[in-house]
Amino acid sequence: MYQQVKDSLDAALQEIRDSGLWKSERTIASPQAARIRLAQDGREVINMCANNYLGLSDNEEISKAASQAMEKWGYGLSSVRFICGKQEIHEQLEVELSQFLGTEDSILFAACFDANGAVFEPLLGEDDAIVSDSLNHASIIDGIRLCKAKRYRYANNDLNALEDQLKQARADVTKGRIMIATDGVFSMDGTIAHLDGICDLAEKYQALVMVDDCHSTGFMGKTGRGTHEHHDCMSRVDILTGTFGKALGGASGGYVSGRKEIIELLRQRARPYLFSNSLAPAICGGSLKALRMLSQSTERRDRLWSNTAFYRRRLEEEGFTIPGKETPHPIVPIMLGDAKIAQAASAKLLDKGVYAIGFFYPVVAKGAARIRTQVSAGHSEADLEEAVQAFVSVRSELDW
Ligand SMILES: *Cc1c(COP(=O)(O)O)cnc(C)c1O
Repeated sequence: MYQQVKDSLDAALQEIRDSGLWKSERTIASPQAARIRLAQDGREVINMCANNYLGLSDNEEISKAASQAMEKWGYGLSSVRFICGKQEIHEQLEVELSQFLGTEDSILFAACFDANGAVFEPLLGEDDAIVSDSLNHASIIDGIRLCKAKRYRYANNDLNALEDQLKQARADVTKGRIMIATDGVFSMDGTIAHLDGICDLAEKYQALVMVDDCHSTGFMGKTGRGTHEHHDCMSRVDILTGTFGKALGGASGGYVSGRKEIIELLRQRARPYLFSNSLAPAICGGSLKALRMLSQSTERRDRLWSNTAFYRRRLEEEGFTIPGKETPHPIVPIMLGDAKIAQAASAKLLDKGVYAIGFFYPVVAKGAARIRTQVSAGHSEADLEEAVQAFVSVRSELDW
């Protein structure tokens, strides 16, 4: 029977190749870091495309804490929490994460993808409404699909458009709950959500606020708590979701954090919590260490921001078009427009020792192709200057 399916799958795969949208994976022969070794030729290149914002992915203290947690608590739990319970290290991580984020309680998931898949369905039914930013992450979109609430979408980060949708939602679900869902930072552009304005509107229309802070936690705001600290609205956000797989060490794991009753209900009803394995002890130990390090010192956060300022300034001096000047973020997209040029530029950059990936339709709008680069506290200014020089020379070769 399979032959028929195989033929149509082969055709689908060929179509992806033919349309230039094939994604191939590189093999890395070193730990994740500011400089990585490529398996293909053993060359060392500057990594400009990791979410390793604080340079913690290869941090020795975190690796050691993870090993110690594994020694003490074992390799895995072989169970979900409502059956075999949790270990003290899970409790500890939930408590310290809540302290770090300034929330009442937190619940752990295998990934933020699962957290976003878990958070809507138990809280919103068919008499409720969800108002979602048009550039929200795929996992928010999927999570919303799983719940029966009425759906409203507003133009990216546009408070007027949000208000229009809130008015409509309030008219449609007079007595129901409304939840606004937004990324804290939009990952393709590196732009920061207007959370203060969003919270004002939420109050006006009696809506809950849910923020996915994956590209912020650990470094946005004065002490790195996230976008809610950056916008000085820490107590006004009801739900934060996030990941341990980016700035906080980069392994894996996710969470929902926020109001106590919301977290309690999720423990009872969230399907990815009830039917998926507990976080491995090593991940808990490493993540705890990362949170403790960031609570003790803002040094890594500060270095990330001075690196970001240096890199953005140098690119602008060299005449590149980069969005987000007013609200600079370590996500720095270099706009190229054409998808083919973005792909060619990425290949040439790698030849020059800079690893950065082109993003084009359908990940971003047609004609808005770009190379998305990401700054890390692990980069030196010399690394970043080398990256800028590589962009300058690729630009002249490709004449973009
Ligand atoms: C990376 C990311 C996720 C997924 O996080 P994982 O823990 O890797 O599943 C969810 N939302 C946003 C905005 C992200 O950037």
